[in-house]
Amino acid sequence: MDWTPLSDAIAKNHTFLVSSHLSPDGDNVGSQLAFIWYLKSLGKRVECYCADPLPQKLAFLQDSALITQNKPSGGFDVLVILDCSNITRVGWDCGEVSIGMIVNIDHHRDNANFGALNYVDASAAATGEVIFSFFKHCGVAVPAHVAVDLYTAVMTDTGGFRFSNTCGRVLRICAELAELGVDCADVYERVFSCHTPQALALQARVWSTLKFHLGGRVCSLDMPLSLLDEVGAKYSDSEGMADNTVTALGVEVGVMTKHSPKETHFSLRSKGSVDVGKLAKSISGGGGHSCAAGCTIKKPYAEAMAEMLGILEGAL
Ligand code: 5GP
Ligand code: MN
Repeated sequence: MDWTPLSDAIAKNHTFLVSSHLSPDGDNVGSQLAFIWYLKSLGKRVECYCADPLPQKLAFLQDSALITQNKPSGGFDVLVILDCSNITRVGWDCGEVSIGMIVNIDHHRDNANFGALNYVDASAAATGEVIFSFFKHCGVAVPAHVAVDLYTAVMTDTGGFRFSNTCGRVLRICAELAELGVDCADVYERVFSCHTPQALALQARVWSTLKFHLGGRVCSLDMPLSLLDEVGAKYSDSEGMADNTVTALGVEVGVMTKHSPKETHFSLRSKGSVDVGKLAKSISGGGGHSCAAGCTIKKPYAEAMAEMLGILEGAL
C-alpha cells in the first residue's frame, strides 16, 4: 500500500470531515475515533458526522462524543469515509456538503473505489487494521486510548476473534495494541456482554421467531422494527444477533431480517459454502464480505423473504 498520497493529502489540507456507515459498529466507531485523534494531533480542524447514533455500549470509548449526528453546514477540504463499500452506505447525501476531495479507507472487497484516494485492503480484518498499518507506516506513537479504539475495531469485526478473518497477523496486531495499554477483558465485557434488560427482552422476542428453511440448510430470525418500541430497545441492541443464525448444526446460511411495513433489510451469514457477499451484491445497494453481508429488498417481509429464499435455493 502506497501511503504517500494519503500523508500528502493530510499534510496539505486543513479541514476534515470524517464519516462512516449507518448502524455504527465497533469497527466504524473505533476507526473514526482513531482517525479523528490522528488528524487532531496534527492540528487539523476535524468534524465527524455519522447519520445514526452510536450504540450505547461503544460510548465508553474516549472522545466518543466527537462523533455527532449534526449534519455539517460548512465546507471541508477532505471528507474521510471509513468502513463503507460504497458512498451511499454513509446514509447522507455527500453532495450537500462542499468537499475538496474524498478519501476512502475500507476493507470490503466489493468497495466501489469512490474516493479520489482509495485505501482498500480486502485482506484486512477491519478498517481499524488498515488505519493501524497507516499509523505504523507514519511512525505514529499510538496512545493507549487510541489503541483501545483500534482493538475494539478489530475485535468487533472478527466477532471476538472467532470469524475466519482471525489469523496470526490479526492476533499479532492485537498483541501490539494490548501492549500499548488495552485492557482486553474490559473491552470484551463492554462490547459483548453488557446488555440492557430491554436489549435482552428484544433478543428473547427475536429468538422466538427462529425458523429453518430449505431442508434445514437455512436458518432465520426476524425483527419487525415495531418490536423496538414494544420492548423499549434500540436498533443497535440487535447488533450481533445475526451471527446466531449460523450456529445451528447443518445450517449453511443464516438470515436475520429487520423489517418495516415497506422494506426488509437482510443480514446474511454463511458458514462458507455460499458467498453471501456476492449474493447481497446482486440486490441493489447490497454487499459485504463472503461470510457476512447485507442488503435491503424494498418489499414487505413475507414477499421479501420468499424472494430471498428463492435466491438462496439457487445458491445452495
Ligand atoms: P451486518 O449484517 O452485521 O449489518 O453487516 C454485515 C456486513 O455486511 C458488514 O460488513 C456490513 O458493512 C455489510 N452490509 C450490511 N448491510 C449492507 C447493505 O445494505 N449494503 C452493503 N453494501 N453492505 C452491507
Ligand atoms: Mn468493518
